Amino acid sequence: MSETQNYRIEVVGHEWAIELFKRQHDAGRVPQSLLLTGPLNAGKSTLARYFAQYLNCTGDNPPCGQCRSCRKMISGNHPDIRVVDTESETLKIDQVRELQHELSLSPVEGRHRVAVLANFERATTGAANALLKTLEEPASQVVIILTAPDPGSLLPTIVSRCQTITLRPLPTEVVQVALREQWQASPGQAELLAQLAGGRLGWAVRALTDRFYDLMDLEEAFAAIRKLHPPTLEESRDKLFWFLSGWLGGPPLYAEKKGHPMLRARHLPYAIGIDERDQWLTCMSQAMDELGVDPGLQQALAKVFFGTADWMRNR
Ligand SMILES: [Zn+2]
Repeated sequence: MSETQNYRIEVVGHEWAIELFKRQHDAGRVPQSLLLTGPLNAGKSTLARYFAQYLNCTGDNPPCGQCRSCRKMISGNHPDIRVVDTESETLKIDQVRELQHELSLSPVEGRHRVAVLANFERATTGAANALLKTLEEPASQVVIILTAPDPGSLLPTIVSRCQTITLRPLPTEVVQVALREQWQASPGQAELLAQLAGGRLGWAVRALTDRFYDLMDLEEAFAAIRKLHPPTLEESRDKLFWFLSGWLGGPPLYAEKKGHPMLRARHLPYAIGIDERDQWLTCMSQAMDELGVDPGLQQALAKVFFGTADWMRNR
């Protein structure tokens, strides 16, 4: 029996923020500009995506995760939802101008034009000032959601136009229960993942990805898989992080930026045999070890990593 696939953005914790949003939505008072603040990887951009999906969902219990709108949002193809999530680059004035043009148009198929601008502290002053215009006089169907570490990292004039929601890192127990209930993790798995993350799942995934590529670069034992990669690993780091983020139940960063991962197809140009598969897995185990990932969780993750790595073999 196969379950219907769920395309809902899953938020761990922060129930009070969701409740507040729902109440405002039901009363027809959704703020047109929202600012989500909180520590790095506390779940700000996931919550922002959840709100965006919520606003245009056509199901009974938004976000339903089943309707056309919810599915398009997950694959990054919703014409009325724009997510700009720059991890390392600055957000420039041209990008804001382009966005403003889009926001000035009526929605194509949804009720709202929604823009999520994650890490808005990375915006240049020019870009921030340009956005200010839209925040001051937004078209009636526009909702803009910004995220930043704290209000102090933004222009005061931006902050004063937004309803601010401050997220705290989640208690370990909350992450655990959510992992079990929302992502069907086994109780053991959930406990371990929650500990690893310390309330910040995104952080844990980024750290793991970085250690993995550091080791690949440094250790002779991984020379064969290192050779399959480009001279610098910066892009590989981002891509694996984006992929793992969605794969482990977080924001679907890869799909938003590049479309469906199509892992096997994308790796066909590279000869991947048993040796390469095993090197990849050993490198990942070592990365988990060095990060102090609990042995039980390592085992659980190793099992799923093996399944995926083995499926990528093409000779
Ligand atoms: Zn829906």
